[in-house]
Amino acid sequence: MSELHTTDAVVIGAGAVGLAISRALALRGLETFILEKNAYFGMETSSRNSEVIHAGIYYPKGSLKARLCVEGRRLLYDFCASHGVGHRRLGKLIVAGQTDQGAQIEKLLQAAADNGVTDLKRLSRAEIAALEPELSATEGLFSPSTGIVDSHQYMLALLGDAEGAGAHLVRGATVKSIARTGGGYRLTVGNEGETMSLECRILINSAGLWAQAVAGLIDGLDKAFVPPLFLAKGSYVTLAGRNPFRHLVYPVPEPGGLGVHLTLDMGGGARFGPNVEWLEGSDPAAIDYTVAPAAPELFAPLIARYWPAVSAAMLSPGYSGVRPKTVGPMDPNADFRIEGPQVHGLPGLVNLFGIESPGLTSSLAIAARVAELAA
Ligand SMILES: Cc1cc2nc3c(=O)[nH]c(=O)nc-3n(C[C@H](O)[C@H](O)[C@H](O)COP(=O)(O)OP(=O)(O)OC[C@H]3O[C@@H](n4cnc5c(N)ncnc54)[C@H](O)[C@@H]3O)c2cc1C
Repeated sequence: MSELHTTDAVVIGAGAVGLAISRALALRGLETFILEKNAYFGMETSSRNSEVIHAGIYYPKGSLKARLCVEGRRLLYDFCASHGVGHRRLGKLIVAGQTDQGAQIEKLLQAAADNGVTDLKRLSRAEIAALEPELSATEGLFSPSTGIVDSHQYMLALLGDAEGAGAHLVRGATVKSIARTGGGYRLTVGNEGETMSLECRILINSAGLWAQAVAGLIDGLDKAFVPPLFLAKGSYVTLAGRNPFRHLVYPVPEPGGLGVHLTLDMGGGARFGPNVEWLEGSDPAAIDYTVAPAAPELFAPLIARYWPAVSAAMLSPGYSGVRPKTVGPMDPNADFRIEGPQVHGLPGLVNLFGIESPGLTSSLAIAARVAELAA
């Protein structure tokens, strides 16, 4: 059976970013359908991350990551407070383990200042010991505006707002084809054994790891506007037993990621990760999210650089997530790619590629930008 619905906007993907965009469009009075191929929202990268509200320290000056993280962080704290979403402004320590990392600390301070993050405090070895007695570090930084958020509660609240403003979430809905019509797009969608056709003026591709695959379905989109996809897996290990830390703890960053760091969850539990493991191939359907049984042995020496008391026996394999990268391991980190008609020439279409960290923190600011581009 085939039904035809006409709507103002369709958002493909119900992760944190897709839900934030749907909310923004619905609150602007646009009838919005959210299509999600899985049985529930937020089952992919949005529930496989560190749940850290980043301050905006690391990203190159003027980049989308820098601007949207700083803006998104403010919006996210306000949203969590006004919607009763679990979050805690714990603060984070960035620690240098070796004396020759002082230059990197200096660089981070400068990068943060360039991005408008002016609340970082430089810490001596003694000050670090006073905050977190079990840490070993030569010096470090304290970021008071870094925190954690319950990402599931956050997505539920976004969906609540979106549905309250008239948006419809269609679960188990896989987009099969996207044709152009005179005024926009016609999507063929498989849903519970049936086929549905949806016509819309505004089309948002917020499909995370699948954004390149979805873009490949869009009739008339020049392939030059679809970047390559590289997959970089990040695994976590969980700490069994007593957690001695009250703050998030990060080493100075490593290529491809922020280093194996300590994050705390809303219940006070501790996990370490993610590492950076570049996967073969670029098919998201082939991802194996299993964490290697040997992960505790691999992670323990990395963690021991800043927490000497750790041992592999205190750690168990946790969960993993995969970063949707648009550049490979040998290239410098790429920026978010949020591309509207000004870039690719197709009216009403916005593609989002490479929405890795800090995508969760930035989601409300990304949503505002996408709503503007689509209009
Ligand atoms: C290891 C790791 C750690 C991270 N840590 C942090 C952090 O601490 N702080 C932070 O700010 N960010 C972090 N991030 C980044 C953050 O998790 C992501 O930027 C964010 O979750 C991306 O959300 P999304 O909605 O774009 O993607 P997703 O959550 O992946 O959602 C995309 C959705 O699209 C759906 N979809 C795909 N194809 C189709 C289709 N054809 N039809 C219908 N639906 C489709 C998928 O099923 C999925 O639900 C981390 C990421 C990783 C991998």
